[in-house]
Order: sequence, then structure tokens, then C-alpha cells
Amino acid sequence: MPERPDIETYIDALDERLTGHALRGVRLANPFLLRSAVPPITDCVDKTVRGFRRLGKRIVFELDDDYFLVLHLMVAGRLQYKEAPGVNVPARRGLCAFDFDHATLLLTEAGTKKRASLYVVRGEEGLADHNRGGLELEDLDEQRFAARLREENHTLKRSLTDPRILSGIGNAYSDEILHRAKLSPVLLTQKLSDEQYAALWRCTQEVIEEFTARFKAERKGGFPGKVTAFREDMAVHGKYGKPCPVCGDPIQRISYAKNETNYCATCQTGGKLLADRAMSRLMKKDWPRSLEELEAKKASHRAGAKS
Ligand SMILES: [Zn+2]
Repeated sequence: MPERPDIETYIDALDERLTGHALRGVRLANPFLLRSAVPPITDCVDKTVRGFRRLGKRIVFELDDDYFLVLHLMVAGRLQYKEAPGVNVPARRGLCAFDFDHATLLLTEAGTKKRASLYVVRGEEGLADHNRGGLELEDLDEQRFAARLREENHTLKRSLTDPRILSGIGNAYSDEILHRAKLSPVLLTQKLSDEQYAALWRCTQEVIEEFTARFKAERKGGFPGKVTAFREDMAVHGKYGKPCPVCGDPIQRISYAKNETNYCATCQTGGKLLADRAMSRLMKKDWPRSLEELEAKKASHRAGAKS
């Protein structure tokens, strides 16, 4: 799912191209995209775009007369900018087109499950209904950050990605933040020391700032083309089995539902492997407790296969 660095990069590119231009129409290729009935989307036609803003992981179009379009890309929603009016919405992937006199903004979503959503709202009060309440890094300091995370006792992984607690951070960047802070994803927020919070706060800022700056530089003034949660330059996210860039040991994973948390056992959990429900079920009591044990098991498997 596009997270804060991706959304901010989209917003910069949208702002450069569409602010000050009138939205001439919205062509909905998939009727399920639009999740609000009132006010009708036709109210937005011919309204000038006044700007864009980020609301958590959502992109908000600010239109004249206090109208807002709230777009949630979810996992696979992506934007394409075409410097021509009336460009066709791509078959299958295409969800809608936002029409301007000089350009077309296309919204696509890969896969058969269409989960991206669009809402039309009026006024800041209407917009507030879409705010999950997560705090922005800009509004925090080390003490406030620690205090907010300590309010509820959850795993670090869950609290960092909870949109009610922090704004704009999801599965990918939470993995990167925890790896950099050398903290286990399953540590409980009320068990962390002040020193651990200091490291977590510093690394949260660093990771988000670094990736945002990198994405903004990478687009070189163009429209962001390759928005993905799996990047070569990530340390652990999406790197299961690859060597940790810090210590060289293989990156581990915990799978749950459709998500996966990646971490380095050596850097983050003192070498301990975290129980993976899917794997644990398979291996029952055979679950290795350390990297050494896992390696030994693999070695004996290989030896067994050969004999
Ligand atoms: Zn490592």
C-alpha cells in the first residue's frame, strides 16, 4: 500500500500539474469506486483544483466551494498522468479518469479485487470524518511519540501501522523503521525503555524522511511511475531470505493474513526466530528457536535428502 513517502511524492507531482486547473469531469469506469452518494460527484464538475493534501494514506483533492475528493489507493491503486485530454480509461485495470482541459489523470488498480475508494465530501467537517486520528510526525517529539505509543499495549508492529496512532505508516516502512532501530516487531509498547523509544523515534523520522527525499529526487520533475512497496533499496521489507545489509544474515518473516512482517533475527531479536503461525502449524513442536537451530535443521534436511 502506498505509504507516506509515496503519497507525498504523488501530491507534489499532482500539485505541479493540476492545481489551478478546472476539473471538467470524472469518468467512472467502475461504479464501486465511488463510495459516497451525497454530495453527488457532478457537483465537482468545473470546480477549480486549489491544491492537494495528504490525509493519512489518502490523497485529498481540494476543490473550489469547499469540495474535497478523498482518494484511497489501498494496496494496488495507482495514478497515471497523461498530458492530453480525454485519454481512454484502460480496460480491466482502469477505475476512473479525472478530466482536465490539458490533461487526464487515470486511476488504475491491478488485480480482480477492486479496493480503492473515492469519496466526495464538503467542508472541513466532512473531511474530518475521513481522518483516522493518527498523529503526524511533525506534531510529535520524542516524549509525545513515546507517550502515544505507551497509551495502548500492543506489539510495535501493530502500533506503528495503526492509522489511529500514527499517520501514513504501513507495512513496508514499519519493517524498515524497526530494523533500523534494532527492535523486535513483537516487543510490547509498554515494555520499551526510554532509550528504546529514543532510537525508535529517531529511526522513524530518518526512514520516512530519507525515503520521501529519495522518491522526490527520483522522479526528477516527472510523474511518479514505479510506486511499489517492494524496493531494492529497502533493508528488510520484501527481502525474505536475502542477506541483511547490516549483518549479512538472512531476513526472516512472520506471515499473517495476507501480510508479512520482515525482520533480521540477528539485528532485532537477539537471534530468536519469531513464531510464524503458518509455519508453526506445519512444524508444530519442531519450530526452531534460533537461527543456529534453523540452519542446523536445514543442514540435516539437506543431508537427509542426499542420503
Ligand atoms: Zn541483520
